Amino acid sequence: MKIAVIGGGASGLVTAIIAAREKKEVLILERNQQYGKKILMTGNGRCNYWNEDQNLEHYHSRDWDLLKNIITEENKKQVKYFFDSLGIVPKIKNGYYYPYSNQATSIQSALFKELNRQNVSRLEEFFVKKIEKKKDQFIIYSEDKTLVVDQVILATGSSAYPKTGSDGNGYQLAKSLGHSLVPVLPSLVQLKTKGKYLKEWNGIRMDVKLTLYIDQKEIKKETGEIQFTNYGISGICVFNLSGFASKALALSKKVKITMNCCPFIDTKEELNSWLSNRRKELKMEKLEDLLEGCLNYKWILGLLKELNFSRDTNWKDLTKKEKERVVELLFAFPLEVYDTNSFLNAQVCSGGVPLSEINPKTMESSKVKNLYLVGEILDVDGDCGGYNLGFAWISGIIAGKGCCK
Ligand SMILES: Cc1cc2nc3c(=O)[nH]c(=O)nc-3n(C[C@H](O)[C@H](O)[C@H](O)COP(=O)(O)OP(=O)(O)OC[C@H]3O[C@@H](n4cnc5c(N)ncnc54)[C@H](O)[C@@H]3O)c2cc1C
Repeated sequence: MKIAVIGGGASGLVTAIIAAREKKEVLILERNQQYGKKILMTGNGRCNYWNEDQNLEHYHSRDWDLLKNIITEENKKQVKYFFDSLGIVPKIKNGYYYPYSNQATSIQSALFKELNRQNVSRLEEFFVKKIEKKKDQFIIYSEDKTLVVDQVILATGSSAYPKTGSDGNGYQLAKSLGHSLVPVLPSLVQLKTKGKYLKEWNGIRMDVKLTLYIDQKEIKKETGEIQFTNYGISGICVFNLSGFASKALALSKKVKITMNCCPFIDTKEELNSWLSNRRKELKMEKLEDLLEGCLNYKWILGLLKELNFSRDTNWKDLTKKEKERVVELLFAFPLEVYDTNSFLNAQVCSGGVPLSEINPKTMESSKVKNLYLVGEILDVDGDCGGYNLGFAWISGIIAGKGCCK
């Protein structure tokens, strides 16, 4: 049985290695010269490759229920054994796994070297443009070559960060073989917002608590560092809300995020008394001074502008309504989201080939015998924190074993 793995990214490399360890004849086809280009960009070059907390809540899919058959205790163990077998020593910070070297190259290189040790055949700069199933075999076409194999693993990634080689073409290959697609949208991506504050706050980083609302309904809360840009907001806490926002915007729903700039305070009442106490203890009246010891200075200037207050505004001179407005904006500043950044900047995609169209025990397609799908081409995306690579490894290990059964 000859197996062709299409795509030499995270999921394809693992599948090829596992199948080769089972003594199968494996050929990996990669359009780039280099393998695992995207791996090198992960975790800001440090590769956050796993997370100890594998609660399914960190994963998203239209067929979410089916994930429990994939993210199993046994499969999680297999991921750890796999990286041990490559010699990767983890550095674990709050459950987030990085290679101890702090270099994504350690992961990419370990995978590549194991590929060689296992004698996996390789064809680089091989762009698969068509796959046909003829009787029991697959015919794979590039621009100038044709290959015949018995099994195909589709590991072509998503549409996110197309310059790494995964530009969404794999979805068309899956469709041509009879699969359907859950709409593919950018996820773990920056959000575009409307407001006069954009110019003022560009470049600011602040610790905040965000709450996402879709059509006025509260959906999710995230705490962390927000980064303001000249078009909107970014940062891990924003990324973790972006998948929900992306799907809602595609359905023309209203998306709003409120920002609590004092995340150590849980209610408006507490915020009110915190301000009063500061006034008394610090003997300060100027709103700007009251906030300066706690909040980013540029942010305060933007807030005063939003309120149409001068910089000399004193708390005691404000009307009750004005005070309420100050507290409201500090506690739940509204950020109206009208779009996401594009696939060019998205770390992952939501959507893809439905999980209901594969067998979770082997990752084999239920539409085409001997076709397997792994990684981000499937309708699974995870939060920031090692979940997306996590899914690539898990699905790769399952398929590597599954195609040898
Ligand atoms: C900037 C950035 C940071 C990230 N950080 C993290 C992180 O820290 N932790 C984490 O868990 N996840 C992270 N991710 C997400 C993670 O990298 C992906 O989810 C993961 O790489 C997906 O693996 P994959 O094998 O499905 O696809 P990919 O890694 O994208 O691999 C697909 C491969 O297929 C090849 N290919 C595509 N089409 C063809 C074709 N027709 N013929 C031949 N070859 C083809 C591509 O060139 C590519 O090499 C990050 C993503 C980005 C963009």
